[in-house]
Amino acid sequence: MAIIKAPRGTNDVLPQDSYKWRYIESVADKTAETAGYKEIRFPTFEETELFTRGVGDTTDIVQKEMYTFEDKGGRSMTLRPEGTASAVRLSLENGLLGGTLPLKLYYKINVFRYDKPQAGRYREFNQIGMELYGATSPFSDAELISLAKLFLENLGIEGTLLKINSIGCPKCRAEYQNALREYFTAHLNELCDTCKGRLQRNPMRILDCKSPQDIALAKNAPKITDYLCEECREHYSAVKTALDSVGISYEEDSGLVRGLDYYTKTVFEFIDTNSGLAVAAGGRYDGLIEELGGKPTPGIGFACGVERLFPLIPDFGKDTAPDIYIASMGPAAAKAAFETAAALRKNGIKAETDLMSRSVKAQMKYADKTGARFTAVIGDEELEKGAADIRDMESGETVKADFRNIPELTAILKNEIHICD
Ligand code: ATP
Ligand code: MG
Repeated sequence: MAIIKAPRGTNDVLPQDSYKWRYIESVADKTAETAGYKEIRFPTFEETELFTRGVGDTTDIVQKEMYTFEDKGGRSMTLRPEGTASAVRLSLENGLLGGTLPLKLYYKINVFRYDKPQAGRYREFNQIGMELYGATSPFSDAELISLAKLFLENLGIEGTLLKINSIGCPKCRAEYQNALREYFTAHLNELCDTCKGRLQRNPMRILDCKSPQDIALAKNAPKITDYLCEECREHYSAVKTALDSVGISYEEDSGLVRGLDYYTKTVFEFIDTNSGLAVAAGGRYDGLIEELGGKPTPGIGFACGVERLFPLIPDFGKDTAPDIYIASMGPAAAKAAFETAAALRKNGIKAETDLMSRSVKAQMKYADKTGARFTAVIGDEELEKGAADIRDMESGETVKADFRNIPELTAILKNEIHICD
């Protein structure tokens, strides 16, 4: 019978690669911790309305990319296409915004988008995101940008390009939207069909469209930075000054509007200049919390696409290997090896033994493949004497030890007792 394959646009993580994921996640944990951000976890699916309201119903995500289904109770549910809407929902539902502010959160989640699968673009992928609620200060924009950058740096990633822009507030945007509408109306026939529909409701969305003809048109469109109100202009300028003050270089890109409807003022993206793909992106969203039923509360955040980090990380460190492989010859020795391994594991020692009834030679081959640091062979002689040679596979040195004396064996394996010939 033919095997069933994973759905298109999804990825498996294989046993030899999972440590790389744990490495990235642990770097995320550490980065978040240095700035006082706490992890949150939330459901994989939410009521569809959370995303139509939170992400915005003129966005690509809501219009084309959501995995929406009706559950058996007839409710419309959607697999999360991003984390911000859920993070806000979680905060509102649990009263977190009535507590200590600013509220600083982060998450590590899988998300689902019916995107066109290709390198760096999947239908299920992973995001690591950080969110900050309650702060309007330009330092908070700069903090989030600097944390995204610190996360990349802590992973050893250098050389991404930071692009920033301000897309203003609803006040200054109204006038800008009119200017855009006028511009694109004059080029109506050149717009893609999706963007024709966006022209009246949200012409800024056209600037983020990926169809080549719209990208070409967008080049000469009016620029938001010429329409910013005084408050937005000052805020933008203060964000840039704050970035300068901590040595973060950036490129201003007045065409950067981002794919989500809820952004206000600062938006940013870290681009991998080799692939041209964004590895992390975010912005301020001062209207979102109110849109989702909370009191007017400012917010800012970013999300990093974890799959896109992989080709950029120079060194994932090493996967863990067994501390000891205990080989055995014959049933009585196999029993002793099994018991010793079980006892060592209670001390946190990574111990393996034969489960395949293999020859000693084959067992040692297996031990070598696993990269076991120490090995021991228990046979009739060792059983009789109660002692076996513990071999350090790095130095080749051995020491005799009572393999039933678990404290002593543990100390040897933890390098607390030094082996010398
Ligand atoms: P893009 O313009 O590449 O489609 P986006 O604007 O849709 O990105 P965001 O919604 O800002 O992306 O999501 C944050 C990050 O998630 C992106 O910067 C990117 O690194 C990653 N990402 C987005 N879509 C995908 C995908 N389909 N597969 C893998 N990673 C993705
Ligand atoms: Mg997208």
